[in-house]
Amino acid sequence: LSERLGGVFDRLTKQGALSEADVDTALREVRVALLEADVSLPVARDFVKAVKGKATGQSVTRSVTPGQQVVKIVHDELVRMLAGDGPADALKIDNPPAAVLMVGLQGSGKTTTTAKLAKRLKEKNGKRVLLASLDTNRPAAMEQLAILAGQIGVDSLPIVKGESAVQIAKRAKTQAAMGGYDVLFLDTAGRLHIDEVLMDEVQSVRDIAQPRETLLVVDGLTGQDAVNVATEFEAKVGITGVVLTRMDGDGRGGAALSMRAVTGKPIRFVGLGEKMDALETFEPERVAGRILGMGDIVALVEKARETFEAEQAERMAKRFAKGLFNMNDLRGQLEQMLKMGGMQGLMGMLPGMGKMAKAAEEAGFDDRMLRRQIALINSMTKKERANPDLLQASRKKRIAQGAGLEVQELNRLLKQHKQMADMMKKMGKGGMMKQAVKAMM
Ligand code: GDP
Ligand code: MG
Repeated sequence: LSERLGGVFDRLTKQGALSEADVDTALREVRVALLEADVSLPVARDFVKAVKGKATGQSVTRSVTPGQQVVKIVHDELVRMLAGDGPADALKIDNPPAAVLMVGLQGSGKTTTTAKLAKRLKEKNGKRVLLASLDTNRPAAMEQLAILAGQIGVDSLPIVKGESAVQIAKRAKTQAAMGGYDVLFLDTAGRLHIDEVLMDEVQSVRDIAQPRETLLVVDGLTGQDAVNVATEFEAKVGITGVVLTRMDGDGRGGAALSMRAVTGKPIRFVGLGEKMDALETFEPERVAGRILGMGDIVALVEKARETFEAEQAERMAKRFAKGLFNMNDLRGQLEQMLKMGGMQGLMGMLPGMGKMAKAAEEAGFDDRMLRRQIALINSMTKKERANPDLLQASRKKRIAQGAGLEVQELNRLLKQHKQMADMMKKMGKGGMMKQAVKAMM
């Protein structure tokens, strides 16, 4: 995908603002990326439409192409949509005992997530937690929760054979109140797909338990189906949030966007493995990067924006247009290159530039060289930096020695500076300077 996008970007021309055509071209690829990440078709379509309106006419940051700029806009919009409101991990668990109902398909990770959350609340928030399994379909499921509870050192409701889910829920509530627990987790029975009987059961449990939170647990590797599951649970039971599991796998997490868009409910946590501490708060940035699969481009655009202040570029363009390009200017350029991660960092981030980065490295054009050049300039006096023509043999020797380098290297730097200064002068005459500086940045 990166390759294909690289091609698209090459074809896009550099200009001040994003044209509709630029946006269309880039968004076509973004739509494919969303679908490949398992975002459902209607959600992807709506999303792209929304972004199109926002992107068209936006100005393009210096040093990035319109296509890259669109990806950044898309990314920011994804983050905004995924984020929802309020901190992700703020479960409403005041007024003890607060019941948390865990729902979802069979095998989605409900039982595991229940234990992970319990451990987190115990360790991070100092809560007294009681776990209860309502999974009367599979006796082993109740054992599983009890074993996990033992592992993480929290209490679980004693198992009584022959009780219905509703009976267990009632007993759990009483026990939680009498035992002085802060939080009661109710781990419900799974279902293979949406099933009326089990749905009714969850509804009855909900009515008894009056949960403060109802968390839908969804396997992050499931694609399109996640939307149906989320829609159904929201309609029949009502959910307060979503936990995405198996985000340690190589799914791209498009389900997160679909579910968020369809239900409007926040994603609270992500499961990142089978271990009890493999649970993290949902980070929209991370998932957005994953859905797009273009995290590098986003990083590049961000860096470019941070590094180059528009004002500064404007000021430099004016100076250069007058043919003014002294050692201070060159040092500024070299320092900015270093800040952006040097040549390798810069080129490595651009699709299809990996080879060039390698060639540059082989030619000795790397961060160390940038640092040596900066050291040489630092070793010059103020006067010398402002007017490099002053540099004759004895001064050169002093400067090179000051930087602990050979005169040869200083000569190379001077030659490079002269070439750049000449080029700028030439361009300045044609009035092309402003554009050139923009292009360079
Ligand atoms: P339930 O049927 O919904 O209760 O699902 P379980 O909690 O029993 O989990 C089913 C399987 O998925 C178990 O083997 C878990 O260890 C595994 N699992 C749960 N969450 C994650 C996760 O975030 N990552 C990975 N890799 N495995 C998980
Ligand atoms: Mg289970």
